[in-house]
Amino acid sequence: MKLTVVPEVQPWYQDGLRFTCTQCGNCCTGGPGYIWITDDEIQRLASYLKLSAEETVRRYCRNVSGRFSLKEKLREGLHDCIFLQEAEVASADGKGRTKKLVCSVYPVRPLQCRTWPFWEGNLVSQENWQRAGGRCPGLGKGKLHGCKQIEAIRDAEDWP
Ligand code: SF4
Ligand code: SF4
Repeated sequence: MKLTVVPEVQPWYQDGLRFTCTQCGNCCTGGPGYIWITDDEIQRLASYLKLSAEETVRRYCRNVSGRFSLKEKLREGLHDCIFLQEAEVASADGKGRTKKLVCSVYPVRPLQCRTWPFWEGNLVSQENWQRAGGRCPGLGKGKLHGCKQIEAIRDAEDWP
């Protein structure tokens, strides 16, 4: 029997993709959605907040068909993640201070937040990637991520 060797199809992002977060906060707000969080991540979040896991769930999570998602809060018609909070940061020109919405639990944010924008749905096609860039100014800018690195982030099941 003669075996046919099927050539490996290279993904459209084989030369890598650029992304550096500008910390604009756009991906932490918008229409209603889900920010999935696992039991392990709830434990890490609870330790960071110095709360019990039960209290963390009660205050910050909602049960969606047996899975937990972070709660959202309404602000000017937008659904902010419960942890998106106003903070004073250095202004862009470095000469003063300005107010900005930032993640208040950044070191323990869930995997879903850590792996953006290298989500499967965004990587399926260049069109999807560009569409995601409409809301995320960090896409296509800054650090070049190699193909293998992109796929490792896409397929991650837990924090690195
Ligand atoms: S946990 Fe932090 S990074 Fe994730 S959506 Fe909420 S505010 Fe944004
Ligand atoms: S939308 Fe993009 S650039 Fe803005 S905070 Fe989210 S990941 Fe960073």
